[in-house]
Amino acid sequence: MNQTMAEALGEALRRPLTRGEALALLEWVRTWEDALELFRVAATVRDQEVGRTVRLMGFITSITPCTTDPPCRYCWRWASPRAFSDSDVLNEKQLARAARAIEDLGIKRVELGGGTLRGEEGGELTLRAAAAVTGACKMGVWINNGPSFGIQHVHELKQVGVEGIACNLESIRERVYEMARPGDSLARRKEIVEESDRAGLLIDNTLMIGLGEAWEDKHPYREWVDFLFWLKQFPGLKILEIHPFRPVPRSPMEELPAGSPFETAKVRAVARLVFRNIGIAGADEPLGVMAGANMVMHAVAVTKKERSRPGVACGPARVRDIGDGLVLADSLPALRRYVEDLGLVLEE
Ligand code: SF4
Repeated sequence: MNQTMAEALGEALRRPLTRGEALALLEWVRTWEDALELFRVAATVRDQEVGRTVRLMGFITSITPCTTDPPCRYCWRWASPRAFSDSDVLNEKQLARAARAIEDLGIKRVELGGGTLRGEEGGELTLRAAAAVTGACKMGVWINNGPSFGIQHVHELKQVGVEGIACNLESIRERVYEMARPGDSLARRKEIVEESDRAGLLIDNTLMIGLGEAWEDKHPYREWVDFLFWLKQFPGLKILEIHPFRPVPRSPMEELPAGSPFETAKVRAVARLVFRNIGIAGADEPLGVMAGANMVMHAVAVTKKERSRPGVACGPARVRDIGDGLVLADSLPALRRYVEDLGLVLEE
């Protein structure tokens, strides 16, 4: 470890990293030995700021189909045409049933996922779904269905009791949108995040490590740091997800390299040292816990029976029928055992 890196990590124990320090750390850490030093400091800051409790998010999908045209070039819609179709969408009765089943397991917050449904219909369907869930449970309700709604709906979502919004950028660069998300709009996603913060809603957002990188490319550290510091302007930022890009079979991007798990862990650690006390997802992987993550998304997920379900990295979920065409994938037993092995506890 060079002296400057040691000094930066020493400072990081006491105060948030500056933009320059965040960039320098990503560039300095090029070996697993140096990464262990970075992780040790990030995990120490996690323990000091938010403790050793892993927070959990439940998940229900879908609340909206996706009409993005063309589909994002890395989307699961290429592998499974049924994904994010009309047949995936839960009605209000099913949403209420799903929410109660998740709450019964002790989960405190739930995210409602879906594709991007353009036009007024997207806003209306999102509002109806949000109201069905806030009316059925006491969990904090988060919305994660892209720009299916406009900035005018953000305030209505707050009125029906929504706690937070995840309008995921995944990348902060227009050139990545042009290449990977030609039917989507970075500007529109940013507007929704900005309006969510103005409305007093909490914010969850996702950075996808490796999205748009070719085999010969160097990692775009500056872009990742720009992403983190764009989010830093929002006091409502409470959850940050940093995941590696995974090439989807049969998609136009299937031949591109997968996002690096090592770089993902580095960025999670740097994010911990920038943001200090927020929820950082990725605690379902040992490297994530070591890098300062403290949150697991999709700890319990409800979908229609025929649909594929998101899970967690540390083991398979127990899947059971909860009636009305729905199944619940419960990852709590796998998570509890794994988290205890690492000397942490699950949120009760
Ligand atoms: S907006 Fe989401 S669901 Fe729709 S095509 Fe893009 S990645 Fe897929």
